[in-house]
Amino acid sequence: MSTELTFDPVRLPPECQKLRADVRQFLAEELEAGTYSPHIGGLDGAYNAEFSRRIGARGWIGMTWPKKYGGRERSFLERYVVTEEFRVANAPVRLHFVADRQSGPVLIKYGSERVKAEVLPRICKGEVCFAIGMSEPNSGSDLFAASTKATRTDGGWLINGTKVWTSNAHNAHYLIGLFRTSPPTKENRRHGLTQFLVDMKTPGITVNPIYQMTGIHDFNEVVFQDAFMPDDHVIGEVDGAWKQATSELAYERSGPERFLETYYVLTELVRVLGSKPDVRGAEGIGRLVAQVHALRRMSVSVAGMLHAGKEPVVEAAIVKDVGTIWEQRLPQRARDLAAFAEEETSNRATFEEVLAFATQVAPKLTLQGGTTEILRGIIARGLGLR
Ligand SMILES: Cc1cc2nc3c(=O)[nH]c(=O)nc-3n(C[C@H](O)[C@H](O)[C@H](O)COP(=O)(O)OP(=O)(O)OC[C@H]3O[C@@H](n4cnc5c(N)ncnc54)[C@H](O)[C@@H]3O)c2cc1C
Repeated sequence: MSTELTFDPVRLPPECQKLRADVRQFLAEELEAGTYSPHIGGLDGAYNAEFSRRIGARGWIGMTWPKKYGGRERSFLERYVVTEEFRVANAPVRLHFVADRQSGPVLIKYGSERVKAEVLPRICKGEVCFAIGMSEPNSGSDLFAASTKATRTDGGWLINGTKVWTSNAHNAHYLIGLFRTSPPTKENRRHGLTQFLVDMKTPGITVNPIYQMTGIHDFNEVVFQDAFMPDDHVIGEVDGAWKQATSELAYERSGPERFLETYYVLTELVRVLGSKPDVRGAEGIGRLVAQVHALRRMSVSVAGMLHAGKEPVVEAAIVKDVGTIWEQRLPQRARDLAAFAEEETSNRATFEEVLAFATQVAPKLTLQGGTTEILRGIIARGLGLR
């Protein structure tokens, strides 16, 4: 099967300019108040409950969602602007970000009315943190080999098994889990998986930390032992979650957070090269800015297509593939370009600190949200090449 590849020529509309100014003003005030550090793009301090509540009060969470669930019915392009400004500023959005980006939209599309009414307004207020429970010890890239089991019991289901690399599970109030409810069929090996809304306070769930090489505790192992899920926590069709999980990935893979995670390196590089960089430095910065501009156009285009109700799965995979490679290479590019900068600038210490951190962060960028090889497989299939 082949899919047409289209990047609609979407531009940010004028209302986005006013919104961008409002977000920048808000961030300047927060920075002034010392809420967060703009320099280190890490996750330390990135979970900030008060900050998320203030963003919720501004109406900047669940912006595109129906008003009856606490949303604002604004466009994906307006949401794009907010995401971009927060990411570039390195704002601490960890509490609400996943819920806003993908868990909320999944619930809106497939959740029971009771769950929607209970959970979505609290996400919009910045009170609820979600985690994604897809990967398992023996099924990462091959999501559809998931073996954590959900077995029918009176009034619901019992979950047994282990999820791994679960970002933020130690802070999460809820997780959307992909569990096996039936064996795969001969005709469809993707059959037999179901998504559940998991309340992380449920007895029988243990969260064990896994530390990254930066020393940061970001992801976890999550163990389920006879954890009970009520029937109305099933999301969508029993045994048919493969379609849902795939469309969720378009939200997960295309946003500006997919190429701006090490953006602070570029900002610091510009600072360290100063107002009169040599030809090599100027040309290098020119290239990097042109590249990030092209990525941005592609990502805005995907946001526009999501807004139009399309499912740009292949285009999103392209943004993530090209974007994560760009942000992964950025620290090394910056190190090369800064090599001949004047040694004694006052910005040097911050630059070195930022660079050391980003270098340790970089390897994970092409793994999280789907590896490069997997994305290229999706792109090849989309282009009819396999
Ligand atoms: C920082 C970070 C955060 C994460 N957060 C989450 C999260 O919150 N929730 C969650 O569910 N998961 C999360 N993950 C897991 C992530 O999505 C998986 O690591 C990823 O899907 C790869 O799975 P794996 O580690 O089991 O590697 P494997 O699937 O075992 O892959 C190993 C290698 O083989 C390659 N490979 C595998 N299959 C193929 C194929 N068919 N064709 C070509 N090459 C192939 C891969 O590209 C990779 O290089 C996170 C990962 C990271 C690094």
